[in-house]
Amino acid sequence: MKKIHPATQFTCTLACAALLACAPAVLASGGGGHDGPAVEVKSAEATIKAAVSGNDQFTGHNDSHHFDGFQTGQTPTLTVVTCSDSRVHTHLFGMAPDNNIFVIRNIGNQVKNAEGSVDYGVRHLPTKILLILGHSSCGAIKAAMGDYSGETKGIKEELDNLKPVIAAEDKSGDANARWSKNVERNVDYQVKTALELYKEKVAAKELTVVGAVYDFNDLYGKGRGKLVITNINGETTPNKIMDHPVLKDLNRGEIVNHVGSLAPAL
Ligand SMILES: [Zn+2]
Repeated sequence: MKKIHPATQFTCTLACAALLACAPAVLASGGGGHDGPAVEVKSAEATIKAAVSGNDQFTGHNDSHHFDGFQTGQTPTLTVVTCSDSRVHTHLFGMAPDNNIFVIRNIGNQVKNAEGSVDYGVRHLPTKILLILGHSSCGAIKAAMGDYSGETKGIKEELDNLKPVIAAEDKSGDANARWSKNVERNVDYQVKTALELYKEKVAAKELTVVGAVYDFNDLYGKGRGKLVITNINGETTPNKIMDHPVLKDLNRGEIVNHVGSLAPAL
């Protein structure tokens, strides 16, 4: 099995950083790396073998009754727009995703890049919560902050839609601080976009748009892996978010541990 050291991957192209699938945390973090653990690179054959064997384990653990409830249709309660980054997955919610979570993913967790899919979750299913979920160390945000002119047409088009986020930043702090705040600002921007698309549903209280960051770097000081709510229906002040009626079933400790902010709103 071939192994490469993370430091080697600093030579990775911007496409790699933007697409993230090949980017370990050390690349996306933009610092360190020389002392990091070796990254195992699996062959194509080993990867497809793992996927098929893993599926056999999945069907072995879930008899046919597992699928009884959704043979003829889906009834999810949560629509999520999140990043394609491989470090972000629905198991962060701790609930079975099957028939519960309608997921839309693209680089930079963008609404406009998948508007039809978001429409489907919000208008046709329809779920009462639309969650825009960014994440710490998002390579798409980092790429959008730099020169990505050498990228493919497809990547450039998707990153171009992040320009308003980057253009509005206050440029305070060092590069990593700016990056983290832009992740949150992008969540705010995507929430704003969703509120424009679904304003009538929000006004009718049929939909709540929630913005959050999956913080596996503990940037918000709440612990690695925490879901940190940073926006509800456009409200970005933590104290006001904490009082939002949609959080009324959470206890005070849960609210304090899951509401935060790094960045002033756009
Ligand atoms: Zn990302």
